[in-house]
Amino acid sequence: MAIYEPVIGLEVHCQVSTVSKIFCGCSTAFGAAPNAQTCPVCLGLPGALPVLNEKVVEFALRAGLALGCKINPRSVWSRKNYFYPDLPKGYQISQYDQPICLGGAVPVGAKSIALTRIHMEEDAGKNIHGGAASLVDLNRAGVPLLEIVGEPDLRSAEEAANYLRALRGVLVWLGITDGNMEEGSLRCDANVSLRPAGTEKFGTRCELKNINSFRNVRLAIESEIVRQTALLEAGERIVQQTRQFDAATGQTKPMRSKEEAHDYRYFPEPDLPPVLIDTEWIERVRATLPELPGARAARYEKEHALSAYDASQLTQSRRLADLFDAAVVASSGKSAKKIANWLAGELARMVNAGEADVEALKFTPAQLAALQGAVDGGAISLGAAKEVFGEMAKTGTAPEAIISARGLTQVSDRGPIEVACDKAIAANPAEVEKYRGGKKGVIGFLVGQVMKELAGRGNPQIVNQVMREKLGG
Ligand SMILES: [Zn+2]
Repeated sequence: MAIYEPVIGLEVHCQVSTVSKIFCGCSTAFGAAPNAQTCPVCLGLPGALPVLNEKVVEFALRAGLALGCKINPRSVWSRKNYFYPDLPKGYQISQYDQPICLGGAVPVGAKSIALTRIHMEEDAGKNIHGGAASLVDLNRAGVPLLEIVGEPDLRSAEEAANYLRALRGVLVWLGITDGNMEEGSLRCDANVSLRPAGTEKFGTRCELKNINSFRNVRLAIESEIVRQTALLEAGERIVQQTRQFDAATGQTKPMRSKEEAHDYRYFPEPDLPPVLIDTEWIERVRATLPELPGARAARYEKEHALSAYDASQLTQSRRLADLFDAAVVASSGKSAKKIANWLAGELARMVNAGEADVEALKFTPAQLAALQGAVDGGAISLGAAKEVFGEMAKTGTAPEAIISARGLTQVSDRGPIEVACDKAIAANPAEVEKYRGGKKGVIGFLVGQVMKELAGRGNPQIVNQVMREKLGG
C-alpha cells in the first residue's frame, strides 16, 4: 500500500483596515444594520463608476515589502464574472494576470513558505438563508481585500495552521488588518491533494472554501486527507471539486464542481486605469515599515540574552513587544530578563487561563518596572509580586498602592525578625537541641515558625540568615 504525502496550499483573504471601501466612500465598519453601508457603486447600479481608494494600494505595498515580494510597477484590474445573488454587478473587480505583488515568503518557525502572489480585490456581499426566505446584505460588497496566495509547500494540517498563524501575526503587526477571524477579517481557502510519497507529480486537488479559524483549518485539512486517502486506497479517483467544512460533523462536503479559471471569463476592467507604482512610492512605504517580529525576536536574544522561546513569546503581538521594550527602558535596562519573565511567563499563563487579554492590559510599562524594582529591593516577595501583577493587569492600579492596600510589604528589618527568631528558639528547645547535635535540616521547621509569626511576610533570606546566626551557625 502506498504511503501518501499531502500537498497543501492556502489562499488567504484579508480585509485591510481602511475606513472606507475600495471603490467608493461607504464605511467598512463591522456590525451595521443590513445594507446601511451601500451606495450606487458598491450596489453595482448601472452607470456607477468605481474610484480606487489609494490606502488599499499602500496596504498591499506594506504587505508585499514586508514579505519580500517583487512589486509590479504596473498592475491591472480585471473583472471576474459570475452570477450570485450577493454580487449584483455580475462580476467582482479583482486582479488576475498582473497582480500588484509577486513571489515573497512567510517565515514559519525555522522554515520559509513561498508565496505565489498578492493581489487586491473587492469582497462580495453576504447571503443570509433562513426560514422561508433568503436575504442579501451588501454591507461587505466592496470591502477591500488582499488575497495572499501561497505555494503548495505545506505538508500537514498542523503546518498549514502554523502558516496561517504566522501570516496573520505579520499582517496584524504591520497594522494592515485587525485579523479578526470571527468577523471575517481573515479567512482562507485550502487546496489539498495527495501523491505517493517520494513522487513529484501533483495529485488531483480539492479546494476547501471559507475556513474561518485556526482550529477549523487544521480539522478541515485533516478530514480531507483522511477522505482522499480512503478513496485512493480503494482504487478510486479524486474528483476535482470545491468542498466546504462542516464543523458540526467534522467532515468536508461538496459545494459545486470546480469551475475552471476560464469560466470566470476574466477581462481587463475598463472603468479603472492600471495601478502604477514608482520607486519613490515604494521607498516611501518602505520607510514606514516597523521592525518585523522575526527581526525583533532575534534582537531580544542578542541584546537581552533572552531564550528563543521567550523572544518568540514576546513577539507574538506588537503591543506586547512594545510594552516589553518600554518596560526595559523604564527599568534603566537592568531587568530585561526579569521583565521578560513577567510577560512571557505569568502574563502568558493568565492569557491562557482567560484571565487577561494582551490587547486590553491596564498597567503601564513604568508600573511593571516599578513592580520588578520592589522585588529586587526586597520590599515584597516574588509570591506577593504575582498577586500585585494580577491586580495591575486587571485594574492598572499602581503597584505601590496595591502593596500597601493589601499589606504585602515584606519584613526585611532585622529587629522584628530577631524577636520572632528568639521566640521560636525559646518555644522549641527539642528542635534546637537536634540542630546543635548535627541535624541541620530542622532549621526549616524553625524558619517556618518564624514565618508563621510574621504572617508569611518575612524576607526568607534574612530570616534564614538570622536564625542560623542565633543557632550558632
Ligand atoms: Zn458604496
